[in-house]
Amino acid sequence: MANAPEVHVVSHPLVQHKLTLMRRKETSTQQFRQLLEEISMLLAYEVTRDFPLGTIEIETPLTKMTAPTIEGKKLVVVSILRAGDGILGGFLKIVPSARIGHIGLYRDPTTLLAVEYYFKMPGDLSDRDVVVVDPMLATGNSAIAAVDRIKEKGPKSIKMVCLLAAPEGVKALHDAHPDVPIWCASVDERLNEKSYILPGLGDAGDRLFGTK
Ligand code: URA
Repeated sequence: MANAPEVHVVSHPLVQHKLTLMRRKETSTQQFRQLLEEISMLLAYEVTRDFPLGTIEIETPLTKMTAPTIEGKKLVVVSILRAGDGILGGFLKIVPSARIGHIGLYRDPTTLLAVEYYFKMPGDLSDRDVVVVDPMLATGNSAIAAVDRIKEKGPKSIKMVCLLAAPEGVKALHDAHPDVPIWCASVDERLNEKSYILPGLGDAGDRLFGTK
């Protein structure tokens, strides 16, 4: 039997409370953006939980000590344009030294497949952990296309961070990339006929940038 998808739903009360505020249709663009940044900081905290620690020798004003420090090369955060940038900001508050990649994908309205129009990554991804960020894991097509392209660059690991996931998107990403675990604030009920997540929060990009 195939392994079940590795999905980490961050159930922390602060995340769940803020998510409820984001879902409400009355929530303003400014509030939505602020809340997404705040939740993204908390998701970043969770997704970096297993980062390996080493030690270095330091001197405090009083004495020498052996102190913990994160080992390995800098994390790479890859934002799927454009809504991914709403998560990127919060991530960089928690991991300010992260390297950044961008992938531009739009959803073909007929096929619903992801079409790439932009791809820019840090030079060398080998030996680096990558976190792909996009608020909505709906059909999973964008996430799958992004991971396909990032894998061509040979990173050490890839994790997916979103705000909301649909069961359909979780399954599709897992089927295509079973080695990519998912972190999110909620797995919602299902997709509607236009592939929006229900109950969801609407169009994340429009709500984030005020473009509706
Ligand atoms: N993208 C969105 O912004 N919202 C959805 O519900 C699905 C995809």
